Amino acid sequence: METHTPGSTPSITVDCGHVLVVGGGIGGIGAALALRRSGADVTLVERAHEFGEVGAGLQMAPNATRILERWGLLDKLLEVGVTPQFMVFRDAVTGEEILRQDLQGEFRERFGAPYIVAHRTDLHRILLEAAVEAGVTMKNDVTVTGYATVDGRGSVRTADDSVLVADAVIGADGLRSTLRSELSADEPVPSGYVAYRGALPISEVTSAADMESVVVWLGPHCHLVQYPLRKGNMFNTVAVFQSPAFLRGEEEWGSEDELEEAYSACVPQVRAALANLGRTRSWPMFDREPIESWVKDRLLLVGDAAHPMLQYLAQGACQALEDAALLEDLAAATEAFPANAAAWDSILGDFNADRAPRTARVQRVARTWGESWHVDQRIPKLLRNMLFKAAGSSDIGQYIDWLYADSEATKELSFQGVQH
Ligand SMILES: Cc1cc2nc3c(=O)[nH]c(=O)nc-3n(C[C@H](O)[C@H](O)[C@H](O)COP(=O)(O)OP(=O)(O)OC[C@H]3O[C@@H](n4cnc5c(N)ncnc54)[C@H](O)[C@@H]3O)c2cc1C
Repeated sequence: METHTPGSTPSITVDCGHVLVVGGGIGGIGAALALRRSGADVTLVERAHEFGEVGAGLQMAPNATRILERWGLLDKLLEVGVTPQFMVFRDAVTGEEILRQDLQGEFRERFGAPYIVAHRTDLHRILLEAAVEAGVTMKNDVTVTGYATVDGRGSVRTADDSVLVADAVIGADGLRSTLRSELSADEPVPSGYVAYRGALPISEVTSAADMESVVVWLGPHCHLVQYPLRKGNMFNTVAVFQSPAFLRGEEEWGSEDELEEAYSACVPQVRAALANLGRTRSWPMFDREPIESWVKDRLLLVGDAAHPMLQYLAQGACQALEDAALLEDLAAATEAFPANAAAWDSILGDFNADRAPRTARVQRVARTWGESWHVDQRIPKLLRNMLFKAAGSSDIGQYIDWLYADSEATKELSFQGVQH
């Protein structure tokens, strides 16, 4: 075995077999499960001492819940999640409802799977349990520091100076991915917006709670999202606003004072909902510019490491699951997978060719979608509200088929709508 860096000898070299996945978030566990289901020996390493997710609720659109159904996990998520009746958009300054989309009935039929809102720890746990049950080897306290191709195989070095080798390395190490630096010198792009989140037992929720909808309040340079969790026993609130300190170029931005001020023009119901947010932690929001290649030899990036996006379309985790599902499809279409290690070259190339244009589109539309939410001038607001109202009374598929429909089915849908 060659050493990783000329002149330095690793303390230990471990052969992980077919696949090594780096990162135990939703993206990494999804990819590990998908490849294990395809028959590969998979080892997943995670730098944290325990597997877990920080944060509150997560919206899972039909493009992701179809994949959970394929893996036999949809019922488990339905047991702990909520299938909202409506997605409702309101003007946060006037309180006016501008769009009400039914998420049941025709919507569910059209996309062949439900829209679910769930606690992100529940989804993470369900995926983790499935991956362990399928036979993925899990290791915590392993921080990957770099990648090299050694004897045609993928290899990573870890912080404790070990080297892990496998036929392919899947980098699922998130927004601030170490492995992405093997492919690109780019940096995360700050949006200047910051999120505060809160998931409270329903008995502790102070403001009025619509228990059958995902409600999105659109305000000037801010929005607020509310929905029920865990069969209605919990309630999720997310407040996202533009930080004046960021605009002034200050290093610290998105303080609690800024949070209160950001919603001062909003209706009392929105201002009251701020009491349901946790105040000890906030999430400054970043994405990255799309890049064309996520592949270097036997290294492939997936999830936020490959295509981090602003959360306005609620698609980051959904797209990570789409990544996993395609890996499974490509493995299934490969003769003698996983024994035929040479096939990884075409699997990784085909994956990149299929996924990069789609996720680049989602990344770009997420930015534009967020901008349309946050307008503050009278005329743009008027136009935005008119457009939302018109969308509600038209065929909604023209706006969302590209995102939610099965890709094969999408080709057959007559899509003449707005080009994103
Ligand atoms: C406010 C907010 C709301 C959101 N809402 C939604 C939503 O409703 N629906 C949706 O689909 N998406 C949503 N998202 C996006 C979604 O959370 C992410 O896209 C998704 O969690 C990314 O998963 P990941 O596994 O790719 O990355 P991560 O969850 O970041 O996981 C990366 C993992 O890699 C580990 N790691 C990092 N570096 C190393 C290393 N060097 N060595 C070993 N391990 C390492 C980390 O510890 C972590 O466990 C939201 C995001 C935000 C910020």
